[in-house]
Amino acid sequence: MTGRSADPRVVRYDEKRVERYLRSGAWSDVPTAERFHQAAVRHGDRTAVVDQHGSITYAELDLRTDQVAAALVEGGLAPGDPVLFQLGNSIATVVAWYAVLKAGAVPVATLAGHRSHEIGHVARQVGAVGHLVDATPGAKFDLVAFAREQAELTPSLRYLWTVHGAERDATRRLEDLGTGIDPATARRVVEGVQAGLDPRDIAVFQLSGGTTGSPKIIPRLHGEYWNNGLAWGLALGRTESTVAAHAAPLLHNAGVSCGLHATHALGGCLVLPPPVKDVALALMAAHQVDDTLFGHGMFGWILSEEYEAAAAHLRTVVLAGAKVPPEVFARVESFGARAAQTFGMGEGLFTLTPLTAPRELRATTVGPPLTADDEFRVLDPGSERELPDGEIGELACRGWYTIPGYFDAPEHNSRAFTSDGFYRTGDLAAVTVTADGSRYLSIEGRIKDIVNRGGEKINAEELEQLLHRHDAVLEAAVVAMPDPVLGERVCAYVVTTGAPLDVPALRRHLESLGVAKYKWPERVEVVGGLPRTQVGKVDKRALRDDIGAKLSAGTLSSR
Ligand code: AMP
Repeated sequence: MTGRSADPRVVRYDEKRVERYLRSGAWSDVPTAERFHQAAVRHGDRTAVVDQHGSITYAELDLRTDQVAAALVEGGLAPGDPVLFQLGNSIATVVAWYAVLKAGAVPVATLAGHRSHEIGHVARQVGAVGHLVDATPGAKFDLVAFAREQAELTPSLRYLWTVHGAERDATRRLEDLGTGIDPATARRVVEGVQAGLDPRDIAVFQLSGGTTGSPKIIPRLHGEYWNNGLAWGLALGRTESTVAAHAAPLLHNAGVSCGLHATHALGGCLVLPPPVKDVALALMAAHQVDDTLFGHGMFGWILSEEYEAAAAHLRTVVLAGAKVPPEVFARVESFGARAAQTFGMGEGLFTLTPLTAPRELRATTVGPPLTADDEFRVLDPGSERELPDGEIGELACRGWYTIPGYFDAPEHNSRAFTSDGFYRTGDLAAVTVTADGSRYLSIEGRIKDIVNRGGEKINAEELEQLLHRHDAVLEAAVVAMPDPVLGERVCAYVVTTGAPLDVPALRRHLESLGVAKYKWPERVEVVGGLPRTQVGKVDKRALRDDIGAKLSAGTLSSR
């Protein structure tokens, strides 16, 4: 075990399990970036990534990422160093991803939309040393200036790199890094670094929607992360001829696992559209994409006219993130594609309805876990008592790619895991047993207090604390309100001092605190008091019912 894998902030997988996983091949002792290199050696001339502006082959991507990695190492980036990623969907992001991994450093999957509240917290918690930002000229928000400010506030942040930017003082364009390094030298540097990595070392930090307080950090390890993507690709029958697209943010766990790694592990081509309906569907049509995943924020795309051109080539469509409306499922099938559903999380577990499963099961369940080694239980909430199949309870899971603990969060971990290491997902699920004895899951709601805004999770408690800092707010309760486009949006119930308070005022307040825009409430209800349950907690169900009733009575619009 290396020094880094012995980091006390990381909860270890039980060592007996690790040995079993390594023996069975569930885990690999070849680190993530070397797995990509192996794929690139096999599929060199094939196209690895396509974006709006061009494409890159496996061989080109492998060489370029070797060079960038060698330059990063030469510049002092060390194995285990965390690097914040604030990048959109593009070839440059994929270059940055594999290059940082090849340097042995750890991509931190922050989002381009995060601001100082989120970036400051995450950077401090992981001890980030580098910050990679999109510097596309003319962007609405200046991420380069923002990164400079963050570096002032967080002393560990020593490096700032840009993609897509014009060169500016004290920043380094990733595009210019290592261009003069001879390929053989670059490969030797990368191999040297990779040889020092252990399967138990952290490959990537993902962020959790979290349930209480600040966002929790998810360490994904070299032993399991690439294989998780491979398992996804194999389950969908991906091959080197697959052209897969991922239009949701690439750095989400689903983007990395189901989009990037699942495609590259099998030699396919990944098309990366921006998350803009018309552009994305046109790019998918132009590149004859045959396999994609749509999150619930994109279900409306499927019902649109523009879907037809993209659908002409789609053979496999996986629907994710929320219950799938029957008309969405039927429209996917009407063009001849196989429709499936998935449920998953940055913490690990994926489920997937097998493409061969009967239609009824594909339309109404999220399937069994992705791999035979995944374990799950449906628990009586608040206890470790397992419920009989068919009853609704909290889903808990354990397995070779589900974390045994969040990073540096011992107190939270003691609540988030059962005594025998099952992760309590906070989601409500029920089991259907099929004719052949398989156990399929359906997702029936959640216990955790979040808003799922088109796939971005907003932690209610965190937002309530931020709202409470407004002078006019005495009490605040955040709930999800149903929305036809994004599934859910944020509605804030507030008790005020009497001073007038509206959506723009709260948004200005959150902006001044450096809170990412996707968390800002889109509806404010000023009330005289918050409803309470018998034990004195705010009755969120009553609030959800209240806003739901107002919306369905047509007295309000969610926007
Ligand atoms: P993330 O870690 O951001 O991918 O979020 C994971 C969470 O998204 C899960 O714990 C669920 O609350 C939610 N989620 C993911 N897939 C589904 C689905 N198919 N149905 C309902 N909720 C889902």
